[in-house]
Amino acid sequence: MATATLKPKTRLAPKVRQTQLLIDGKWCDAKSGKTFATYHPATEEKIADVAEGDAADIDRAAKAARKAFESGEWPKMDARDRGRLLNRLADLVEQNFDELAALETLDNGKPIRDARAADLPLVIDCLRYYAGWADKITGDTIPIRGDYFCYTRREPLGVAGQIIPWNFPLLMAAWKWSPALAAGCTLVMKPAEQTPLSCLKLGELAIEAGFPKGVINIVPGYGPTAGAALVKHPDVDKIAFTGEYRTAQIIMADAAQTLKRLTFELGGKSPNVIFADADLDAAVAGTEFGLFFNQGQCCCAGSRVFVEEKIHDAFVEKLVKRAKTRKLGDPFDPETSQGPQIDVDQFDKIMSYIDKGKEAGAKCVTGGKRWGKKGFFIEPTVFDNVTDDMPIATDEIFGPVMGILPFKKVDEVIDRANKTFYGLAAAVWTRDVSKAHKLAASIRAGTVWINCYDVFDAAAPFGGFKMSGIGRELGAAALANYTELKTVTMNLA
Ligand code: NDP
Repeated sequence: MATATLKPKTRLAPKVRQTQLLIDGKWCDAKSGKTFATYHPATEEKIADVAEGDAADIDRAAKAARKAFESGEWPKMDARDRGRLLNRLADLVEQNFDELAALETLDNGKPIRDARAADLPLVIDCLRYYAGWADKITGDTIPIRGDYFCYTRREPLGVAGQIIPWNFPLLMAAWKWSPALAAGCTLVMKPAEQTPLSCLKLGELAIEAGFPKGVINIVPGYGPTAGAALVKHPDVDKIAFTGEYRTAQIIMADAAQTLKRLTFELGGKSPNVIFADADLDAAVAGTEFGLFFNQGQCCCAGSRVFVEEKIHDAFVEKLVKRAKTRKLGDPFDPETSQGPQIDVDQFDKIMSYIDKGKEAGAKCVTGGKRWGKKGFFIEPTVFDNVTDDMPIATDEIFGPVMGILPFKKVDEVIDRANKTFYGLAAAVWTRDVSKAHKLAASIRAGTVWINCYDVFDAAAPFGGFKMSGIGRELGAAALANYTELKTVTMNLA
């Protein structure tokens, strides 16, 4: 049996309760009996051993989800009752707000103030938004030629396999569960190996809320074993994945055999464009938030900051001053604004990009070093005089490393902003409405923020152009990911 061993000195640490797999409504160990450890990134201390699911466990989970979809209570349930269950889950998340926020900070290392101000409210918002959709998923009546009655039905797609990363563990679970459950699908989720705890807690709350057995199954484990088995399983109808594009390429190849529906939410190298006529202080504040939020571990991080030459010096001076005020340290301290990176692999990757930036001749104007001796902390780092071809301008770093790229003209910056195979998000800061909308229309990205950054709402679709993804999450758009369209034609003659 997997056991929870929590260091008592971890401040505000919640009691870690759930470390097993959730399959068919029951908590169980992995068939192999194996476990893996999860760590607190600020102290590098072990939090708990978690059951390590693999292909055998995915098989059990996928079969349970299939059975629940075909013949359990779920397919017979009124859509309104599915909505009530989602709302009940949202109630329970609210009631367990403190514990879930602390669990997220413990497992991921994110500042508790971010977990409380961003992750948890967005989770609740997402569950409630899709609770409202459950009984509003409708088809059309279609006036076809001849004496026929033709209509469409939006039916649940079936069993959804959902694979999520570690940067927003609970929120990514909510983004994937909510539309799937509202649409009437059942699901098997594989959380990231670094951060399984909050998802398992959500599973516990889902059982308490009354979701029938087999509807929600959770199998923590590694990508190449549990994740790959989920992608290949014949009982799984679709894969919804968030993570790196290289992993998505493997998933796409693995899914080909069973022709699974695929939706991907992948990485980015998002341009954040600041014009000389912008409100400078607002642009500085938004730029700092747009990159450093969540330790830079955001798929939509504004990592390429294009600054109009006329204001370049003033902007950089203010930005550096602001970056230096960021408070690194114990993520459980409510004053902390920047926690550690998730693990040593990410830490090493980010530090190697900082070296590459220096080698390429960019000017490191603040940061650039490890912070402290324990934990995976990196100073907020800003590179100035970055050029488009430098690795720090082309590659997703996924850390607190910003590149400033000066520009002169509107058409020039549009062209340069689009010179990437990513297309997830962008922002533009200007008081000129025409310029703002010209950029919004010209930048090839799934989201464009004007005079703001990282504004998320469950009702607003999110996803990528180009290699940043396939399909959209959130909003009404996400329901299409979990439904099949059926056309029914009846002869009236
Ligand atoms: P991955 O894409 O490898 O991981 C995301 C999820 O996919 C994890 O649950 C992972 O499992 C799983 N996975 C890995 N391999 C497979 C596979 N063959 N089949 C099925 N599932 C698989 O991202 P990483 O966590 O390794 O992070 C690496 C980089 O990815 C980051 O530096 C960043 O650039 C980018 N990234 C982007 C994110 C985004 O939101 N767009 C989020 C996270 C990372 P496991 O737990 O074993 O890793």
